[in-house]
Amino acid sequence: MVECVVIGAGVIGASVAYRLAQAGVSVTVLEAGRVGGGTSGVSFAWTNANNKPPRAYHDLNVAGMRAHAALRDEFGETPWWHGGGSVEWASDDGARSDLRERVTRLQAWDYGAEWLTPGQLAELEPDIDPAAVRDAAIVYFPDEGWLDPVTYAHAMLEAAQRAGARLRCAARVTQVDVQGGRVTGVRTAGGDSFGADVTVNCAGRWADDVARLAGARIPLAPRVGLLAFTPPVATCLRRVVRAPQCHMRPDGAGRLMLQMDDADATVGAETEPSPALPAAQDLVRRAALVLPGIAGMRPEAARIATRPIPADGYSAVGPVPGVTGHYAVVTHSGVTLAAFLGRAVAEEIAGGRTVPALEPFRPSRFGR
Ligand SMILES: Cc1cc2nc3c(=O)[nH]c(=O)nc-3n(C[C@H](O)[C@H](O)[C@H](O)COP(=O)(O)OP(=O)(O)OC[C@H]3O[C@@H](n4cnc5c(N)ncnc54)[C@H](O)[C@@H]3O)c2cc1C
Repeated sequence: MVECVVIGAGVIGASVAYRLAQAGVSVTVLEAGRVGGGTSGVSFAWTNANNKPPRAYHDLNVAGMRAHAALRDEFGETPWWHGGGSVEWASDDGARSDLRERVTRLQAWDYGAEWLTPGQLAELEPDIDPAAVRDAAIVYFPDEGWLDPVTYAHAMLEAAQRAGARLRCAARVTQVDVQGGRVTGVRTAGGDSFGADVTVNCAGRWADDVARLAGARIPLAPRVGLLAFTPPVATCLRRVVRAPQCHMRPDGAGRLMLQMDDADATVGAETEPSPALPAAQDLVRRAALVLPGIAGMRPEAARIATRPIPADGYSAVGPVPGVTGHYAVVTHSGVTLAAFLGRAVAEEIAGGRTVPALEPFRPSRFGR
């Protein structure tokens, strides 16, 4: 039986562990902290392939969306996944023209994208102030949604354990043993050793640190992100809304999660996440321009995390060059991709097959 150690228990490690265990592999998951305690726990978690050219990367993300939807057949209910689509609008000339171009491309690629009238938007999201939209170009992406990543990771790991996998939290991998150029096992900070034919590096933004333990590299270009959260608010917002003012979505119990790229740029990895951050307060103010019902609210929380982005922006999935038996699964859009990557990676490691969709995304493109 193949012996696998999965390093990291975010959405990616959890998905990979589940599918490997299901395929009959002996799996041990080693997580430095807690399940979903890395980037997965601080993610906007919008499942989409909305603006992810070129075609191969778009298709990979569509496969991710479909794999999440398909879990409903397998699990009966998937309380971590919220469909219902997303809406977006563009007001100024440049943004309208970009949106038109994107929608044309997406429709040509058979991706669900429908123009809406302001009246249709009001039917979908009655709490949005028409004055915030005016005569904007409005689009509905019906197949998109969002995920509760920690709930998802927990569910996948429970399923993995039912299939025989072992999970160890508070078990940081500090050494990868390599003999004759081949991985033979790992050691943790607590001094435990685990033999392995394959180590699967699902350490997200820490993936390069883990690869170095095996004498290899996975070059990353990580980017920090800020999320602000409202207290429970009286709005019936139901889906991901990407307004020019602010991006927002429900986050359970009436709270809203808010994000904007220009707000990301105001924080660094060392910034103390606090609802008092001016950028967090500004996100709530901007969201209130769209949802007047939340006017005057202050953020309840702010969170900061680093996106695990391989150096050229695309996923890095496959054997890491320079050492046999070290396989990487590192990616931005990891929430969208997790359910598909879990299956695809297990097919490669357990089934010995090559998954064509992964071919453009091999870590070998970065060299040794
Ligand atoms: C602000 C923000 C918004 C985002 N929005 C979206 C979005 O809308 N849609 C989308 O699809 N994606 C989005 N992402 C990206 C997505 O969240 C990530 O791609 C995804 O969470 C990565 O999951 P992961 O399992 O690879 O990493 P992580 O969740 O970080 O998991 C890695 C785990 O490895 C563990 N680890 C690290 N080193 C070791 C070690 N030595 N030994 C043992 N364990 C170790 C860590 O503790 C961690 O738990 C966003 C990210 C951010 C920050």
